[in-house]
Amino acid sequence: MKLSGTLYFDYQATTPVDPKVLEKMHPWHVESFGNPHSVDHILGWRAAQAVENSAATVASLIGADPDEIVFTSGATEANNLALLGLARRAVGGKRRRILVSSIEHKSVLAAYRALEAQLGFKVQYLPVDHEGFLKLEELENAIDDDVLLISVMAVNNEIGTIQPLEGIAASAQRCGAIFHCDAAQAPCAIDTTCLATHADLVSLSAHKMYGPKGIGALVIRRDLQGQIEPMVYGGEQQNNLRSGTVPVPLCVGMAAAAELFQGSNANEERNTVRARRDRFVQHLRNAGIEFVINGPQDQSRHPGNFNIQIPGYSAHDVLMALQPRLAASTGSACTTGTPEPSHVLRAIGLSEQEAGSSIRFSLGRSTTNTCVDEAVDLIVQTLSCLDESALAHTG
Ligand code: PMP
Repeated sequence: MKLSGTLYFDYQATTPVDPKVLEKMHPWHVESFGNPHSVDHILGWRAAQAVENSAATVASLIGADPDEIVFTSGATEANNLALLGLARRAVGGKRRRILVSSIEHKSVLAAYRALEAQLGFKVQYLPVDHEGFLKLEELENAIDDDVLLISVMAVNNEIGTIQPLEGIAASAQRCGAIFHCDAAQAPCAIDTTCLATHADLVSLSAHKMYGPKGIGALVIRRDLQGQIEPMVYGGEQQNNLRSGTVPVPLCVGMAAAAELFQGSNANEERNTVRARRDRFVQHLRNAGIEFVINGPQDQSRHPGNFNIQIPGYSAHDVLMALQPRLAASTGSACTTGTPEPSHVLRAIGLSEQEAGSSIRFSLGRSTTNTCVDEAVDLIVQTLSCLDESALAHTG
């Protein structure tokens, strides 16, 4: 995809809204705009029905039931609701430990830090191997009947690692812990239709799957719903788990996006994206660029994800030099104005310098072979320009 001259290789940051999704949302903004909680008239009833239908479609994406869906503003809120909500009700119980993989999204790690600081839970960070896979034996060793929650994401947003969820779920079940899975990156990467049979709490985000920004969902196993303290209090909408007027057009949009990933087309699309990604890797190699791949080398990786270290270059400098022609990203977060090296890259064993020379390219459904070839040419040119200017500075 080329947008106003920019090649887009940042699909894991966000995806464009699919035109079919946008079309389905439109009438709910301008015609059937009723408040879904207006119980006294037809426009309210229609809106409520649309929310119910949307919940059913989102639920079927992961094999859950419609009444297990709580719409949120995105996966960040879903993660917070899951973890803070559950822990707040569990204060005073015997389960005081929480296990979390060390490469979770910041919205999971930060929520756990808050639980540790504010409610005294003991959070244990589980190590991953050099490709980002959770070390299952470490999980087994850490598990006991004092564990409340285990959080492991389905697919990593930086290095694309697809975790073995079945094994993790089995361990959680053995000790009676609740398994929370952040699946924000999952629909583009894997068949998610059985996810709800493995995880008790699942976080989703619409804008990672060609839906609108500003909506996500927390899927809460039915019998756990009474164990979650809401984070937002008010009109007691959504079974009193998340108050506030439910945004009908966004729900309809999320459901339309979820539909894109149900059925055989979804797998075909993943395979096409994978083939383009592999072409990208091969062409960069053929062009003589030296790089090291971060993350899994095989099929257990998000099909559109390609994270590489380019030794001798700063990722930030390369990405800036590529502007405005190509959009990709570093895994670093810039929370306080100073970029920190990615915690994910550090957790898989990269040095600060290696992490600082790492770039994530992420491909999506509109990345054509032509886009890939143009991107490779641009990267080759850009690296050689950076070499020349470095020479000029030292010469
Ligand atoms: N979890 C993961 C794995 C993500 O990739 C993201 C988005 N970067 C989030 C959570 C947060 O999602 P949202 O933007 O919907 O809040």
